[in-house]
Amino acid sequence: MELNVNQFKKDYLRRLKAKSGRPLEESTVWDQYHALGSLIKEYMTDDWVGTSIAYNKLDTRQVFYFSMEFLTGKLLCDYMHAMGVFEVVEQGLTDLGLSLETISEAERDQGLGNGGLGRLAACFMDSMASVGIPGHGIGIRFNFGLFEQKIINGYQVEFPDRWLENRNVWEVKMPDKAVEVHFGGSVRQDYIGGRNVFFLENTEVVMAVPYDTPIPGYQNGIVNTLRLYSAEAKTPDFDLAGFSRGDYNRVFSEKYAVEAISQVLYPDDAYENGRLLRLKQEYFFVSAGLQGIMRSFKRSGLPIRDFHKYNAIHINDTHPALAIPELMRLLMDIEELNWEEAWKITTQTISYTNHTLLHEAMEKWPVDVMKSLLPRIFMIIEEIDRRFNQITERLYHQVDPRRSQQMAIIGDGQVRMAHLCIVGSHSVNGVAKLHSELLATKELKPFNEFYAGKFNNKTNGITHRRWLLHSNPRLSAHITEAIGDEWIKEPESLGRLMKYHSDPAYLEKLMAIKRANKVDFSNYLHKTSGVSIDPDSIYDIQIKRLHEYKRQTLNILHIMSMYLRLKEDPDLDLIPRTFLFGAKAAPGYQTAKQTIKLINAVGDLINADKDVNEKLKVVFVENYGVTVAEHIIPSADISEQISTASKEASGTGNMKLMMNGAVTVATLDGANIEILEAVGKDNIFLFGLTAEEVYRYTENHSYKAFEIYQNNPLLRRAIDMMTDGTLNVSPEEFYLIRSALLDHNDAFFVLKDFESYANIQKKACEAYRDKKRWSAMSLVNIAKSGIFSSDRTIRDYNRDIWKAPVFETLKGSL
Ligand code: PLP
Repeated sequence: MELNVNQFKKDYLRRLKAKSGRPLEESTVWDQYHALGSLIKEYMTDDWVGTSIAYNKLDTRQVFYFSMEFLTGKLLCDYMHAMGVFEVVEQGLTDLGLSLETISEAERDQGLGNGGLGRLAACFMDSMASVGIPGHGIGIRFNFGLFEQKIINGYQVEFPDRWLENRNVWEVKMPDKAVEVHFGGSVRQDYIGGRNVFFLENTEVVMAVPYDTPIPGYQNGIVNTLRLYSAEAKTPDFDLAGFSRGDYNRVFSEKYAVEAISQVLYPDDAYENGRLLRLKQEYFFVSAGLQGIMRSFKRSGLPIRDFHKYNAIHINDTHPALAIPELMRLLMDIEELNWEEAWKITTQTISYTNHTLLHEAMEKWPVDVMKSLLPRIFMIIEEIDRRFNQITERLYHQVDPRRSQQMAIIGDGQVRMAHLCIVGSHSVNGVAKLHSELLATKELKPFNEFYAGKFNNKTNGITHRRWLLHSNPRLSAHITEAIGDEWIKEPESLGRLMKYHSDPAYLEKLMAIKRANKVDFSNYLHKTSGVSIDPDSIYDIQIKRLHEYKRQTLNILHIMSMYLRLKEDPDLDLIPRTFLFGAKAAPGYQTAKQTIKLINAVGDLINADKDVNEKLKVVFVENYGVTVAEHIIPSADISEQISTASKEASGTGNMKLMMNGAVTVATLDGANIEILEAVGKDNIFLFGLTAEEVYRYTENHSYKAFEIYQNNPLLRRAIDMMTDGTLNVSPEEFYLIRSALLDHNDAFFVLKDFESYANIQKKACEAYRDKKRWSAMSLVNIAKSGIFSSDRTIRDYNRDIWKAPVFETLKGSL
C-alpha cells in the first residue's frame, strides 16, 4: 500500500490517543503496541474485505485448511512486511521517539500449537496468501496456548499461557456467523417420503463463535482468513431461570463445562492422548467449520451437488478426521442427498496429510466413547466401515484373509482415525520423500496397494519471509545486495547466490553477519536469562520438542563424553563450543522431563568448572517457541538434526536453520535426506543408521544395546555419570533415561549411533577451523534452501491436490 511517513505519524498519534485515552508521552508500551496493531489491521481492511468479495463474486474454488493447531507466533512485523510499510512505520516511530523493536516485543506469541505440525499450518497460511491461492485456515481459538515453560532448579515447570489476557488486536469476532454444535443425545430414525431420515434428540448444544484473523499475502493485495472458533454456552450468558432460583453453582458449572472445549490446547506432541475433551475439541471445530462453509456455499446459490467443485477441504493430520462423517451428515441429513451422492462429494472434497509413523501418535478412539459423544457420527463411521469391509473382504478373503481386518476402520473396539482419513479422502500425502515412501511401502502398504495413485508426497516447507526476511535482516540485505529482491517472491532464485561460492569478500561478509547475529543472540540471552555466552565459540543448536526419538539424549551424552575427555586432557585442542538447547517436554512425559533436568545438570557442572568452561558451555534456553526461535536461528553455526532414522516424518527446524546458513549434523531421516540432495554431501555432516537398518534391527531383534555399553568405555563412563554422583543429584534422578537405554534395549538406537555421532562431530569441528571452507558451506546451504520454502510446498499441494485458481492479484476483479 501507499503510505508516507507523515501520514503514518498523523494516523498513529490519533489512533494512540483514541485507543489509550492518553497522549503519547503518558502511553505505555502496551498502548503503543495496541494502537499500532489496530492501525495496521485497519490499513489491511480494504484488501481483506475486497478479497472476500472477489472470491465470492468469482465463484472461485477455495481451500479450507483444517488444523487443530496454528502456531503463528507474533504477527505485527510480518504483516508490515507483507503490506510493504515496514520501513515507513519504523521511520515514523523513530521520528516520534519510539522503537519498533520495543513495541513489537509487547505482542504476545499466538502459541496455539505444539511444534512442527502447528508451525507448518502457520507457514502454509502465509504461503497460500502470498502465492495467491484462495485458502483459509480453520481451527480453535484456545484461551490458553501451549504452556509457558520455566526452568526451576533445572526442572521444567509449566505455567498457563495467558496470551489473550490483554486482548488480541488482530481478531474480529463474528457473532452472526456462530453455529450450533451438538454432542451426545440419541438418534431417532424415521421413514419419510421414501427415505430414512435421522434426527438428533436431547443433545447438549454448544455455540461455536468464529473469530477471524486476516492473513495478508506478500505485497499482492490478497488477504485470506484464519477462522478460529470459540465455544460459548448457548443461552445468552447462562440459564436465567436457574440463576434466579439461586442455583448458581449448577448454572456456572454448566457454562464452564461448555466453554472448557476451547480453553486449553493439549500439550502433547507425537502422543495420542485419548481424552474425551480432546474428542470434543476435534468434533467442535470440524462441525463448526463445515457448517460455516456449507452456509456460505448455499448463499452462493450454486447446486449442492457441485459442492466439491468449489471447496477443497484439507485435514492436517487425523485431528480433523471427523470432517469426513460430518460432511456426510450435513449432505445426507440436512441437504437430503443419498449415501452415494454424499460419499462422492465428500471423498472428492477432502484430502489428508499424514504426519507420523510413530505408533504412539496414531489416533484411535474407543467405540463406546465415540458412540455416546457423537451417536450420529458414529453411525456414519460404522456404515463407511461396513461398505469398505465388503469390498476388501471380497478382494482379499482368499489370498489374505487377515487383510480386511487390518484395513478396517473399526477394529479391536476402536475407531482408527488414519484409516477413516484414507478411505474418506481423495489424496493422502506424507511430508517428506522418505516418510511418504515408508507410508506407502511399510506402514500403510495395504492401503497403497488398494488405492493406486491416492498416496503422494509433499515435502514440508517454511515461509522464508518470516524465517529469513524478517528474522535475519542483515543476511536478507546481503542477499538482496547480491542478487536483487526477487527471492522474496521466488525463493528458488536464492540459487543465484552460488556464483559467490568462491568470492572471498562475499564470504567474509557472510561470516561477519553471522558473528553480528551471534552477538545479538548473546545479548538477548543475557537480557532474558542473565546467561553470558561467547560469540566466538561455535553455536551448536538443538531446538525442537523434547522427545526420545529426536535424541537430545545423544547430544547430551556426547557433551558428557567431551567433558570427560577434557578433564583428562585439559590441553585437548578443541574450538570453544556453546551447546544450546531449547525444548518443551509434554507435561506427562517423564523421560523427556528427566532429559531437561539432565541437560541442566550437565550445564551446571560444565559451566562452573574452570578446567573446561573456556572450551565448553551448555545452555538450556527457557520457553522455546516461535519468538525464541526467531532469535536463535540466525545465530546458529551447527544445526542438530539427529533423530533416529525413520522416526522424524520431515522436520522443519532443519530447513529454517540451513536457510540461515547453519550447517547440519544429520541422520538420514525425514527432510534431512532432501537437504543432502540439495547441498551435496560435502556441505552436510551425515552419520548414523539408515531407516532400512533401523527397520532391520527392529524386525530381527539383533540389536544389543548393553553390549555397546560394555564395550565402549567412554560412552559407559558418560552413562554412568548420571548415577555416580558427579552431577550432584540423587542416583535415581535419571532413572527413566538410563533404564530406557540399558534395560529396555534403547529403542531409539542412541548407543548404536554414538560412535559415528562423535566422529562426525570431530569432522564438523575440523571443518569449522577452516574459515574459508566453512563460509562456503554456509553459503551453499543458504543458496540451496529455496526449495524448502512453503511457497513451493503450497504450489505442489495446489497443483496436485486442491487445484484452486492462483491469482497474482485480485485488483480489477471487483
Ligand atoms: N517449534 C517451533 C517454535 C518451531 O519454529 C519449529 C520449527 O519449525 C518446531 C517447533 C519444529 O522443529 P523440528 O522440525 O526441528 O522438530
